[in-house]
Amino acid sequence: MTMENYNTILLNVDELWLKGKNRPLYYKAAKRHVKEVVKLLHTAPFQIKNDNQRLVLSSQENFCGELIPALQRIPGLFSIAPVRPVAANLEDICRAAISETEALVTRPTSFKVFTKRIDKRFPHDSMEVSRQVGGALLEKIEQLRVDVHHPELKVQIKITPEWAYVGIREFKGVGGLPFAMTGNLVTLLSGGFDSPVASYQMAKRGCRQSFVFFYAYPFVGEDVKEKIIKMSRVLASYQRESKLYVIPFGEIQKAIAKTCREEYRTILFRKLMVDAANLLADKIGADALLSGDALGQVSSQTIGNISLIDQISKRPVFRPLLGNNKAEIIALSRRIGTHDISVIPHDDACSLFAPKHPIIKPDKNYWDLYNKQNQFCDALSDALSNAEVFSFNALGK
Ligand code: ATP
Ligand code: MG
Repeated sequence: MTMENYNTILLNVDELWLKGKNRPLYYKAAKRHVKEVVKLLHTAPFQIKNDNQRLVLSSQENFCGELIPALQRIPGLFSIAPVRPVAANLEDICRAAISETEALVTRPTSFKVFTKRIDKRFPHDSMEVSRQVGGALLEKIEQLRVDVHHPELKVQIKITPEWAYVGIREFKGVGGLPFAMTGNLVTLLSGGFDSPVASYQMAKRGCRQSFVFFYAYPFVGEDVKEKIIKMSRVLASYQRESKLYVIPFGEIQKAIAKTCREEYRTILFRKLMVDAANLLADKIGADALLSGDALGQVSSQTIGNISLIDQISKRPVFRPLLGNNKAEIIALSRRIGTHDISVIPHDDACSLFAPKHPIIKPDKNYWDLYNKQNQFCDALSDALSNAEVFSFNALGK
């Protein structure tokens, strides 16, 4: 839809009603994120006001078309509806409903009018408003017919003490909880399908994320780094602000590969990544780690290997995809915009050093002994201090 002539947008919030006393904080966080996004796309002054359970974004100047998709990525927003504010009387409401609908209807279309009367002093009840507006629409626009069960077009009317809002489009948001309301995560981001989808899942639950990529340069090419930066931009567009840490990891992987039993390489690479992620979390104040594991997908994602990692991690490791099938993950990746980046082929250091038969049932004695004798403390703190850091704004730029 073209947004060229809308200067008012209703933002319906999702789970904010759950939060009782904390509700004002949640609204504040959602508003702050919206403000950040609008500021980047709209140069004229604008306002965001609370109006009952929703937010009303408005400006003297019309908003641009890119704003809607950007707002659709803000966690905590359930839906986004561009509307026409008119004086709260039936005549103006009908006129606006007709002009909004006329512009959109080019073929026979079914519709239904939905009215919410927030101002109970308004002289007509919701049913009556819907009936009147429906009648006016049927009279003016020949292609329309009423369908109260499965209307193609929903004409929404909201009557507040100040204005009546008339809108015919409502765009679905990410929903969930606003940015940074539930905690800070270090997200282990690799180039595949899983970790970006895992990141999206927890962005939706209100987690602020810092992305970390363990970069096995010079054993992998530079294109994988470019790929991760590109991926981070997409994931960053679901956050108010983000950072990506690219941590040099080639030497550490080489040292592990040289010193451990071959079948333990993969799980030890993972352990050292988790150690490094915890060190980074200490530094930036994160509460938990996030990874894209799905149970049994590969050998490092068996219960045995997952429990080894959980025993050494100082913080909980969130794994929102444990119960997802690959096809489900890929379907979600298409929806959130990461699919086309995930499919780009890339070098993978884990497979470069990959053992022929990665361990599935690890020997706890060997694991403990190896880790006692090989702590990589200096190597890890060197790697961390040599990290390359990239920052992204709320549009992922
Ligand atoms: P994905 O599909 O998420 O890219 P994958 O299918 O290649 O991962 P693994 O290599 O087993 O699966 O990795 C499991 C998880 O470990 C990933 O989802 C990611 O969270 C983390 N991970 C793996 N490699 C790296 C890396 N080089 N840098 C950061 N995190 C990594
Ligand atoms: Mg995977």
